[in-house]
Amino acid sequence: MDPIVVPCPQCRALNRLPRSRVADVPVCSSCRAHLLGAPIELTAADFERVTARTTLPVVVDFWAAWCGPCRAMAPNFAAAAQDLAGEVVFAKVDTEAEPALAARFAIRSIPCLVLLQAGHEVRRIAGALQRAQLVQWLQGR
Ligand SMILES: [Zn+2]
Repeated sequence: MDPIVVPCPQCRALNRLPRSRVADVPVCSSCRAHLLGAPIELTAADFERVTARTTLPVVVDFWAAWCGPCRAMAPNFAAAAQDLAGEVVFAKVDTEAEPALAARFAIRSIPCLVLLQAGHEVRRIAGALQRAQLVQWLQGR
């Protein structure tokens, strides 16, 4: 089977690994952090590189610290990242720190989830979701 390319949630290095190794709790070749199952924080500096070169779908959570529903959804987002480890890469963009990224995606209300494939938007949904709703939305393709 084709290898997959995924970003390290810790150091953002892109790692290539065989699909068969997804269940083996793979670690980053640069920093040895666990590669799968944890959300990765993205900034304007690495957003393009990571979302375009990751071979899995990438779901981006546009959020802000002042947003109550965003904070409420954060644990659900982290739990869904574990549920879909090796299937979907979970990323977060702080819209206060990264207004240019929020503007580029025309984010009007948060939380807003945008699903990307090879850097291109597939679909989006606004509003806080529960863990099961998140998994269902991501698998409904
Ligand atoms: Zn790393």
